[in-house]
Amino acid sequence: MNQFTLIYGCMFAGKSTRLIEFYQDFDDDPARKLVVKPLLDNRYAIHGVNSHNGLTIPCHRVGKPEEITSLVDDHVKAVFIDEIQFFDINILSTVNYLLTMGLEVYGAGLDRDYLGRDFGHMPALKALARNRIQVHARCSVCGSKADHTFRVYDSDQLILVGHSDAYQARCAKCWKEGQKPV
Ligand SMILES: [Zn+2]
Repeated sequence: MNQFTLIYGCMFAGKSTRLIEFYQDFDDDPARKLVVKPLLDNRYAIHGVNSHNGLTIPCHRVGKPEEITSLVDDHVKAVFIDEIQFFDINILSTVNYLLTMGLEVYGAGLDRDYLGRDFGHMPALKALARNRIQVHARCSVCGSKADHTFRVYDSDQLILVGHSDAYQARCAKCWKEGQKPV
C-alpha cells in the first residue's frame, strides 16, 4: 500500500540526504519519480535538491502545493517533496490527493524554527504521515545528539537570513543556554 513518509529534524540533520536515498532506492527509471521543492528556497542549485554532503537530484520548483498535482503524469509513481515546511496549508490536501492517486509520497522538512516553534504545517504533516523518520544532527557545542536549530547572533548584523552559517544544530540544553535574555 502506498503511504506518506515524512523525514523531519533540525538543520544539518541530513533531511535532504535521506530524501535522496529514498529517491535512489525507489526505482531506476527517473520518469517514475517526481521531485519538487518550494520556489523560495534559493540555496544551492536552482533546479536541484542538494544534500549538505554534495549529492544532487534534479527537481521542479513550485510556488503552490496545487502545482505539484499538475506535474504528475501517467509515468509518475512517487513524489518527493523537499523543504516541505515552506508550503502553505494546501500541502495537506495535495499530499492526500497524491495518496488517493495511488502514489508513494516522501517529504522532508524542518520541524521547528530557531525559536523552537513548530514550522509551518509540520505538526499536521506529521499526523498525516504513516511513516515518520526523525533525523538528528550533532550538537555544535557539546557533540551530543541535536534536534534544535540555533541562530548565531552576530554583532555586525551582516549575516544573511537563511544562510547556513547563521545557524547551528544544538542539543536542547545547549540551545536553551544560548538564548539571549530578553
Ligand atoms: Zn549540546
